[in-house]
Amino acid sequence: MNIAIAIHGGAGTFRREDMTEDMAKSYHEGLSKALRAGWVLLQAGGSALDAVTAAVCVLEDDPLFNAGRGSVLTDIGTTEMDAAIMAGEHRQAGAVAGICGPRNPIRVARSVMETTPHLLLMGEGAHKVARNAGHPFESAEYFETPSRRAALQRELARRAANAPDHRSDADRHGTVGAVARDAANHLAAATSTGGITAKAAGRVGDTPIIGAGTFADDITCAVSCTGTGEVFIRYTAAAEIAARMRYKDESLEQAAEKVVAELARHGGDGGLIAIASSGNPIMPFNTSGMYRGVIGTDGKLHTAIYSEPFETADP
Ligand code: ASP
Repeated sequence: MNIAIAIHGGAGTFRREDMTEDMAKSYHEGLSKALRAGWVLLQAGGSALDAVTAAVCVLEDDPLFNAGRGSVLTDIGTTEMDAAIMAGEHRQAGAVAGICGPRNPIRVARSVMETTPHLLLMGEGAHKVARNAGHPFESAEYFETPSRRAALQRELARRAANAPDHRSDADRHGTVGAVARDAANHLAAATSTGGITAKAAGRVGDTPIIGAGTFADDITCAVSCTGTGEVFIRYTAAAEIAARMRYKDESLEQAAEKVVAELARHGGDGGLIAIASSGNPIMPFNTSGMYRGVIGTDGKLHTAIYSEPFETADP
């Protein structure tokens, strides 16, 4: 079978020297759980769309990652989440921006795609779609964690003191995402995020912008990005990879490598995961690390944080 799945937990990793063994273990476990949630569906003949939804829900529920529970906070201390999903077969897509309430923003993005004539809904309109679809809601406290509150306070104090920005990537940003290929050879991508720490209330990043942070088209590839959202939007990062494959006949690897390097040249720190109609998913990044994992053509589960060799297990 040609099934495969890859996930990321964002390019907002801790500095290597700050990452304890216990912390690393928790990240590997969280990534493995998400991969398995998607893989079990693909193996049973389920769709790539269901697999990416399931994998992203696991990461949204895990407070370690910047999406759903554990999202970073805005400059006024609120949680505002963005998410998008796209199916490669007919380029159907759905997205939400700036929401706080539904436990799993990715499910709401999917409901926008499946139950409305629209693509991107924000705020109360998105909440209404979630309520109509019967998605569970949580209080604002559910989404906030002490470490995200502390990161916000550090950043606000730094700004007040006009001090230089030496924050680790973990203090700045993060995102979660999944791409998959199912037994029918259809592709899908899903991305979900709290955005960047101390972002202005109302700021929307690349995640819910189709063609920037999220994209899927069976003819070329499915892509989920993480990084400096504004740059990923200006360089239409995900769609650019697909365009290079379509018009320049580049392989997925070649196209993604060029785009990640171009982003880096323009201040776009981050990375992405991507998959095409054959071969293994790829996971390039230009930061010191990216939480990531894959179950590809060898049928083994691999997870990694930095550029070291992957940890491997049975799925
Ligand atoms: N791309 C996300 C955003 O700009 C943040 C990240 O992935 O680090 O909202």
